Amino acid sequence: MFKYWFSIPLWQRVIGALVLGTALGLWWGPGAENIKWIGDLFIKAIKMLIVPLIFFSLISGIAALGDLKKLGSVGGKALLLFAATALISVTLGVTLGNIFQPGIGLEVAMPEGLTDKPPPVDWIAMVLRMIPDNPIMTMAEGNVLPLIVFAMLVGISVLMAGEEAAPIVRGVDAGAVVMQRMTLIVMELAPFGVFALMAWVAGTFGWASLIPLAKVVALNYAGCFIIILLVYPAIIKFIAKLPIIDFFRGIVDAQVVAFSTASSNAALPVTLRCVQRNLGVSRSVSSFVVALGATINMNGTAMYLGLVAVFGAQIYGIDLTVTSYILIGLTATLGSIGAAGIPGSGLIMLGLVLGTIGVPLETIAFVAGINHIMDMMRTMNNVTGDATVAVAVGRMAGEIDVEEYVSDDDI
Ligand code: ASP
Repeated sequence: MFKYWFSIPLWQRVIGALVLGTALGLWWGPGAENIKWIGDLFIKAIKMLIVPLIFFSLISGIAALGDLKKLGSVGGKALLLFAATALISVTLGVTLGNIFQPGIGLEVAMPEGLTDKPPPVDWIAMVLRMIPDNPIMTMAEGNVLPLIVFAMLVGISVLMAGEEAAPIVRGVDAGAVVMQRMTLIVMELAPFGVFALMAWVAGTFGWASLIPLAKVVALNYAGCFIIILLVYPAIIKFIAKLPIIDFFRGIVDAQVVAFSTASSNAALPVTLRCVQRNLGVSRSVSSFVVALGATINMNGTAMYLGLVAVFGAQIYGIDLTVTSYILIGLTATLGSIGAAGIPGSGLIMLGLVLGTIGVPLETIAFVAGINHIMDMMRTMNNVTGDATVAVAVGRMAGEIDVEEYVSDDDI
């Protein structure tokens, strides 16, 4: 029984749970609230991961940049493209959320003690809050923004310290691996959490709640497709100046693995092979850009964070202000950088975005049930983005074998 359960791929178990949970909720009605605690358990376990996962994976990601001097132009160009595409992606997510309004139709009461006005933002106080008074207190309180700032500073200091900080790099790398393993353990709870949460949503809010959720999923797919079919090809055509069709032919294996595993890290070996062998990018550029991208370049995730932030505001009837949108842009970009390349990490980052703009974190309970099917698509997008930037940077650095890129004999 045990063996059989684990022999079914996680995504199939999650989708099964989604269907069965929804059916149970529709049948049971409001009584399904009785099993919501199982979903809460899943969400609590996810929240538990936020602080250590961000801390270790950010520092280890920055340390992976290597020597600050060696980093030079290749790293600079890659980072610029990573940041630009992340911002475009969040903007797209927010725009889709506003045009198609997926949250309208699922009205949820604000949890007690919260108001439906976004908290007034005092920019000076906000900037001051970004620097932790005390990093340990920041971690204990789960303040993600100052934690990200602190982790980035640690990463940069580690790079500056060079050889002397090598033991710390090994330590944080190990910490990142351990936290990623722990996330995989927590994700094994997903089928049960998804089952309970879908039963609760469908039971409490009825059929009508399923349409908004279906819309979020559809918009997540649409947004990712728009980025894959418009943004990446534009980079290949105008920055790398290479034919687009060969790019997609070369990268399809990595896309399939990313889609089925929902993990950029799991797809990493295949992505690397595709970028080197099919697209002809040199070993040094491809291993640097693709490995770094798998950790910090997540445009699908950035788009999703923007979209769900708007969805959350809609279900709670919160009017977002211009300031809220600026904060979404900032936190979703940081969240996509902080998310590790493993299943579910985008969901973990939602807390950062929602908390900053004053949308109740309970939004996570609504989208946790549909997370995995969205995760598959955004991971495929993330991996395609890594390959795009590797090709563009490889081309700019003269480190791409164009004959190989256009050749038909792909592996
Ligand atoms: N699973 C995604 C990835 O590995 C991250 C996310 O959850 O959005 O790229």
